[in-house]
Amino acid sequence: MAPSDIRVRFAPSPTGFLHIGGVRTALYNWIFARQRGGTMILRIEDTDLTRSTDEAIGWILDGLTWLGLDWDEGPYRQTERFDLYNEHIDRLLAQNKAYRCYCTPGELEVSRKEAMLKGTAAKYSGKCRNLKDGERNGEHTIRFKAPQEGQIFVDDMIRGMVMFDEDQMDDLIIRRSDGSPTYNLTVVVDDADMGITHVIRGEDHLSNTPRQIQLYQALEYDVPRFGHMSLILGPDREKLSKRHGAAAVDEFRSMGYLPEALINYLVRLGWSHEDQEIFSVEEVLKLWSLDDQGKSPSVFDHDKLQWLNGQWMKIVPPEQIARRLLPFLEKEGLITMSPEPGWLTKVVLTLRERAVTLVEMAHRAGFYFKELDYEPESAEKFLTPEINHLMGKAGALISTVEPFDHETLHSEIRGWLEEEGRKLKDLAQPLRIALTYRKDSPGLFEVMEVLGRETTLERIEKAREWIRNRV
Ligand code: GLU
Repeated sequence: MAPSDIRVRFAPSPTGFLHIGGVRTALYNWIFARQRGGTMILRIEDTDLTRSTDEAIGWILDGLTWLGLDWDEGPYRQTERFDLYNEHIDRLLAQNKAYRCYCTPGELEVSRKEAMLKGTAAKYSGKCRNLKDGERNGEHTIRFKAPQEGQIFVDDMIRGMVMFDEDQMDDLIIRRSDGSPTYNLTVVVDDADMGITHVIRGEDHLSNTPRQIQLYQALEYDVPRFGHMSLILGPDREKLSKRHGAAAVDEFRSMGYLPEALINYLVRLGWSHEDQEIFSVEEVLKLWSLDDQGKSPSVFDHDKLQWLNGQWMKIVPPEQIARRLLPFLEKEGLITMSPEPGWLTKVVLTLRERAVTLVEMAHRAGFYFKELDYEPESAEKFLTPEINHLMGKAGALISTVEPFDHETLHSEIRGWLEEEGRKLKDLAQPLRIALTYRKDSPGLFEVMEVLGRETTLERIEKAREWIRNRV
């Protein structure tokens, strides 16, 4: 197969937020395609009209775009392809590979209970399989006549060879009584029609695979290769969901995570390369392989994701972080107008060592944008009458420092303190509280440079006034 013949797809059902498990499926397909010069297709599986929404389609498209997982074809929508599905269903009917089933829900329930009592497989009894024309009439579904004799082998790219006995296989409903086609039929028709060569999806679909292979065979289509990846679990080893905390890509995004970190985290789930933890997309494209993907499920580890995010806050260029920080600053109520980009980049440079997420960074950035209340214990401890005079002198010096950058500020203030027979540490905390209102802050001289001379002097004077008022 020429590299460019490789075609994969991400086929989400738009019934809710884009779940992190779905992101992982999209990511693996995307890497698989991009590594091989293949084609990535986006297909929206919206046949469940009661649960699919346009809003959810928007979440999927936004989420993928935010993560940088682009696609080459689509988005296709299954609801626009009903004619194609019906043609295939009619073909199966005409070839006697499918049949009309008139069993009512009541009848099906009775036979399900009988099977349960007998301890046999809970599958359709086959009652309508061999009806003669006109024997039953009225509302009906269409069922696929599933071959019952042999075995289906799935040579799974992740799980290895998996075998299924056909006598366990149900006569699947492929068209509901309301005329709508069902998942296993639409997915096979679409994957065949779209020329999908590799189906990479979650392990929860493994049990569908033999049914789908039977349909490929009945429709005389080539069967693609399959790869079923293990699921992501919560700490209780149940499938990861909302109740384990954030599980949707939008939530991680609004919690201030970076797409680079999320991708890095998902790639490392069930895959490793030596003892490396940080992987850029470029490295992933070079190193990652589906063949090395582990089979056992992975537990989602929020702490690890957070750690990775903290790392990526320092790797992503500061001007980019600055741009991404803007909506979070707005949410904190810190800006109404866009600050000057070069200045905001400097803000980021002072904060990125400590801030693990964009939310935290925006929160820590507060003092750059507005006056805050002093942390009471810190003000009590460090803004004392004894320091007032020295702070005044520092202000006088700061008003003359040229150029007004952190290196010059640092050396001049240190030199002056030495002459005064004082140490930097005598003054550092009081100044820090004066300028940032907190005792945990970025480097003092970097803060001065970013605040600028005027604001620095104003805040020193405010702190001295506070000291005077406390006596
Ligand atoms: N629409 C299915 C889902 O969201 C995926 C189908 C598939 O990948 O075959 O779970």
